[in-house]
Amino acid sequence: MAVLNESRSTAAERLAQVRARIEAACAAAGRGAEEITLIAVGKGMPAERVTELLLLGVTDVGENTAQEAAAKVAEIASRRPELAARWHFIGQLQRNKAGSAAAFASMVHSIDRPALVTALDRAAARRERPLDVLLQLDLDPDPDPARGGVAPGDFAALADAVLGVEHLLLRGVMTVAPPGGDARRSFDRLVEFSESLQLIAPSATVVSAGMSADLEAAISAGATHVRVGTALFGARKLASEHRT
Ligand SMILES: *Cc1c(COP(=O)(O)O)cnc(C)c1O
Repeated sequence: MAVLNESRSTAAERLAQVRARIEAACAAAGRGAEEITLIAVGKGMPAERVTELLLLGVTDVGENTAQEAAAKVAEIASRRPELAARWHFIGQLQRNKAGSAAAFASMVHSIDRPALVTALDRAAARRERPLDVLLQLDLDPDPDPARGGVAPGDFAALADAVLGVEHLLLRGVMTVAPPGGDARRSFDRLVEFSESLQLIAPSATVVSAGMSADLEAAISAGATHVRVGTALFGARKLASEHRT
């Protein structure tokens, strides 16, 4: 029991620290903390660790591989059916995993190419309601294909592709700051893309930006959704970082 209590209090403490960081960043930016959705990124973590956070009041969970996510969603749904989490798909999505993602995700953050729009639209047709999606931008001057994201020059055409299909709802934009780069600069650019997107898609108000290391910069730039793994769960094994 002592061990269980200890790990429970650690999760609670980490969550309290992350919430305090979000509140401080919002206060500094003149924003309300209720404007920010905290997504707990559970990749590489067992279902029990995710469940622990859901019991502490977290409502949104992010996963970056369809296989790991589907297994975790099923496990939590069978053990704790009362915990109705919203699942976010935040990783690079293969076309052949579109069906799986459309089945469990309430939002896919990583639309970055037209072929994925077609595959996900077809998969989302089997859902009761359209699937919320974000366009992932790669704002690194030195793009890394492993991180994903559409180049700024191809952004408008990709937005048109999503607006042209029936079963996807364009809800906003997402980015991952380049490692070692100027995160704030990337997030400011992301918000510019968000503002121009909203001129043609008024409901595309989501700005998904900021992780454990840079959530303050993201909130100050205008993020509505922060994706936090390490600061909530502790360090992961590196092997799970870039699997698909
Ligand atoms: C892993 C991951 C995160 C969380 O990163 P941390 O640094 O652990 O907070 C956020 N977004 C994406 C796309 C990720 O792959």
